Amino acid sequence: MSSCIFCAIVEGTAPARIVYSDDDIVGFLDIRPVTRGHTLLVPRVHSTGLDDLDPTIGSALFRAGQRLAAALKSGPMAADGVNLALNDGSAAFQTVFHTHLHVVPRHAGDKLSFAKGFLVRRDPDPDETAARVRASLESAG
Ligand code: AMP
Ligand code: ZN
Repeated sequence: MSSCIFCAIVEGTAPARIVYSDDDIVGFLDIRPVTRGHTLLVPRVHSTGLDDLDPTIGSALFRAGQRLAAALKSGPMAADGVNLALNDGSAAFQTVFHTHLHVVPRHAGDKLSFAKGFLVRRDPDPDETAARVRASLESAG
């Protein structure tokens, strides 16, 4: 599906800061992050949402989410917690219609900066953040 921006990222024809890759799933930094390290995990095979997502791929998506969450907590991102979110349908604020899991690192006491992040949604140094997320995954093995 060439008009899909996430398919284009998976195919390597659209730019993205890729931080995670396995046989079924690709992960890249959200271009408008709510917190530093906010990552999107997407199946390589296009589906629009829960209705047409192969449950086997859904399982791979969640498994990647668990793996990334663990790495964000144990590695240099030093997250204290993680929000996993999947917005399904425009009523649920889905804006990109290629299934994706938001992985949002959280830190203890970040309530105010989290609220601010929802408004600003900007990382001043996304290259450094991507390097840190990759290092988190590498150190987690
Ligand atoms: P949702 O509202 O769940 O559909 O979220 C879509 C997310 O995709 C938003 O957080 C956007 O900031 C993000 N996004 C849209 N286009 C891109 C892109 N080209 N690269 C990375 N993230 C993107
Ligand atoms: Zn797609």
